[in-house]
Amino acid sequence: TATTTTATRAMALPRALATQTRLASTTKLFINGEFRESTTDKWLPVRNPATNEIVSEVPCATPEELNEAAESAAATFKTWRNSSVITRQNVMFKLQGLLRDNMSELAKLITLEQGKTLADAEGDVLRGIQVVEHACGIPSLLMGETVGNVAKDMDTYSYRMPLGVTAGICPFNFPAMIPLWMFPVSLACGNTMLLKPSERDPGAAMLIAKLAQEAGVPDGALNMVHGSVDTVNFLCDNEHIKAISFVGSDNAGMHIWNRGSGNGKRVQSNMGAKNHGVILPDANKTATLNALVGAAFGAAGQRCMALSTVVLVGEAASWSEDLIELARGLKVSAGDQPGTDVGPMISREAMQRAYDLVESGVQQGAKLLLDGRNIKVDGYPDGNWMGPTILSHVTTDMDCYKEEIFGPVLVCLEVDTIDEAIELVNKNRWGNGTAVFTNCGAAARKFTFEIEAGQVGVNVPIPVPLPMFSFTGNKASFVGDLNFYGKAGVQFYTQLKTITSLWRNSDADVLKAATVMPTMK
Ligand code: NAD
Repeated sequence: TATTTTATRAMALPRALATQTRLASTTKLFINGEFRESTTDKWLPVRNPATNEIVSEVPCATPEELNEAAESAAATFKTWRNSSVITRQNVMFKLQGLLRDNMSELAKLITLEQGKTLADAEGDVLRGIQVVEHACGIPSLLMGETVGNVAKDMDTYSYRMPLGVTAGICPFNFPAMIPLWMFPVSLACGNTMLLKPSERDPGAAMLIAKLAQEAGVPDGALNMVHGSVDTVNFLCDNEHIKAISFVGSDNAGMHIWNRGSGNGKRVQSNMGAKNHGVILPDANKTATLNALVGAAFGAAGQRCMALSTVVLVGEAASWSEDLIELARGLKVSAGDQPGTDVGPMISREAMQRAYDLVESGVQQGAKLLLDGRNIKVDGYPDGNWMGPTILSHVTTDMDCYKEEIFGPVLVCLEVDTIDEAIELVNKNRWGNGTAVFTNCGAAARKFTFEIEAGQVGVNVPIPVPLPMFSFTGNKASFVGDLNFYGKAGVQFYTQLKTITSLWRNSDADVLKAATVMPTMK
């Protein structure tokens, strides 16, 4: 049941530290424009995944603090909704510049708390900045529709109106990009927001909140609240909150969807994935193998658009030896060490889970071509290390195929034809992304039309659309009707209001009350 799932997930979260052991470095709440220490007695450790040292502690905000944040967002909405669209556009322009100026500081925070390499962390920030850049176009994005003369002297037009207070709930794997998928679009549309960064790596989101304040976001328009399940449940229940954006795992996403929409809120929920790369034998071999290795093992496989599964069609099955060589050549170390390709995994538990799923694959008959478990990394004896790992001869009934591993593990399946490959990918319950590698236009076209996944790459391994489009994962990877960013993002954070107006100089035409339904002739 949902309750059991929630309870199980709650237990998997890091245990709260005792109150007496408060570190100098604590993550602050940001409420009504003020960065302040929580009064809670429940704190969670934020660890550097390369060393497991605690770098900060994050509070589980108290119900009073959460209420205060919601009240301040509701109060600010009354003025922010009436700010001119040009004011909001200018705030986005300033935020864009500040984010670019602070790119390397943000990247350092991401690497410290999340583990990915500095270059990859800059990519995390950049993909978020691109959403802010799109939000700079808000005056055009908010344009409604008009029809003049729907009846004599009568006109109909629509506005995209803001919703009110919105909420954002973020995962650990993109500590800058995903908060930036949410609040810039919401605020540009005239809403206010309570944002909950991942409790594992809130540092980048907190610096972004400071930059948003500097950019001119008014007090109370953006509030940062922390915690885990209780904070999330507050966001699903609070009466001021009209819409919730969630990105993260299936269990949390379905819980939030059920609870939030049960309370009458809009919910968009981006969840888990198992993205398949389909390799046809006519593909450019070197480019394809490099693309696969980068997309499978980059960020230690902890991307929702990682290519974690490869389907080798026909003779492409013989490419696995070269795949192993390329994967073996990747350097595993701390994300701030020069030359690192693969950083640590987020936690001991996540690492052990990935180890266990690899073991289950071996037990269930897969071939372990490359084993990255239990590796030693010079200078970092306590990191959550897992090197690139490849399993071949995987079948769809194995746990390593059925589960999202979310680690540097590539599972390989072998089929004879493109039709079999398409059928296999379409049988998978998730539909976040997929990619085909080929030199045949007709095969690529067939693939893009017949495949069910919502984001398709043709010789492009991680086809995350730029924000003029939307992030369109589907099937079990998404619930909701309106996707993140792009036109759909603006639609998610607004509701249409349609006005029909009649302007006449005299009342000569209206001599009697009309009791029939207006037909607007
Ligand atoms: P997670 O679900 O553990 O955490 C995400 C957020 O949900 C956090 O803020 C956390 O506090 C909260 N949460 C966790 N368990 C909860 C529960 N039981 N009830 C209520 N709230 C809960 O996810 P994660 O481990 O941080 O992120 C990894 C997952 O996110 C992967 O499954 C990955 O595929 C997915 N993801 C998806 C996308 C996408 O766009 N589809 C993007 C990034 C990550």
